[in-house]
Amino acid sequence: MKALVKQKAEPGLWLTDVPEPAVGAGDVLIKVLRTGICGTDLHIRSWDGWARQSVNAPLTIGHEFVGEVVETGRDVAEIRAGDLVSGEGHLVCGKCRNCLAGRRHLCRATVGLGVGRDGAFAEYVALPAANVWVHRVPVDLDIAAVFDPFGNAVHTALSFPLVGEDVLITGAGPIGIMAAAVARHAGARNVMITDVSEQRLELARQVGVTLALDVGRSSIAEGQHQLGLREGFDVGLEMSGRPEALRDMIGNMTHGGRIAVLGLPSQEFPVDWSRIVTSMITIKGIYGREMFETWYAMSVLLEGGLDLAPVITGRYPYQEFDAAFADAAGGQGGKVILDWAA
Ligand SMILES: [Zn+2]
Repeated sequence: MKALVKQKAEPGLWLTDVPEPAVGAGDVLIKVLRTGICGTDLHIRSWDGWARQSVNAPLTIGHEFVGEVVETGRDVAEIRAGDLVSGEGHLVCGKCRNCLAGRRHLCRATVGLGVGRDGAFAEYVALPAANVWVHRVPVDLDIAAVFDPFGNAVHTALSFPLVGEDVLITGAGPIGIMAAAVARHAGARNVMITDVSEQRLELARQVGVTLALDVGRSSIAEGQHQLGLREGFDVGLEMSGRPEALRDMIGNMTHGGRIAVLGLPSQEFPVDWSRIVTSMITIKGIYGREMFETWYAMSVLLEGGLDLAPVITGRYPYQEFDAAFADAAGGQGGKVILDWAA
């Protein structure tokens, strides 16, 4: 089968033929229809410091996908050939304290699909049935392909109660924009999002944010003033991984404010801890999705009318992966989709 492979320990990706994956007794074989390109895939393609540490070539990359089940192992009961499915990209150990307690998203020994084992940028992918999410209500295929990052957005956005709250989101990449849409849908009063890309801020306006602020031109404090806030933001969602974003967020929270951090910084950096202490701010790190409470929330949010269509801005057949990756790496648009059925 065709697969997009990190063939050698150097920058680049190779579209090549690999054997179809083996299907174990507890596994599901999925014919991949569409995939989403994630920042993780860009790191692996450019072969940066993180990728060199985390990936052993050769490896089929990719973890955001939708596909159709074509075969199930003999121990799989609830999933059938023909089901439309996406996959939870974190494969957990099932043995650690958190796994045994049902808190699988807190597993200490997670293996990443398309990072620690062969992934979904291929004509077929095999996954343990426990990692497969069956779409039981109609869902657009492009949206189904990005359920994994949509899950990051939902998990982050719903970390703290949002009804009637003033929410600040730093970083208007695809996940920031999806989180903004969720916050709006969930009943936040104001949702302010920041970025330095006018194109991305415009996408955020399309999902209904109250204010999309270019932090290259004005400060978060000025944005607060524009919104008429008197005491600061109640909830912060940090999506950029940038030191100045988290620092500014901390400086603009109300007393007792709550911050969920999904953006992954590339290195250590100082923040104003005395402000965190005296403003009594809660900070929570987010990695991945809750299995499968977040997935349930995603499906019902879409069923309830949440519109993510503006987030998808690039569509390419898989053979044109070079152009698709260049698009995704541009940092200006939304989500880029590869079509594997074309
Ligand atoms: Zn575990």
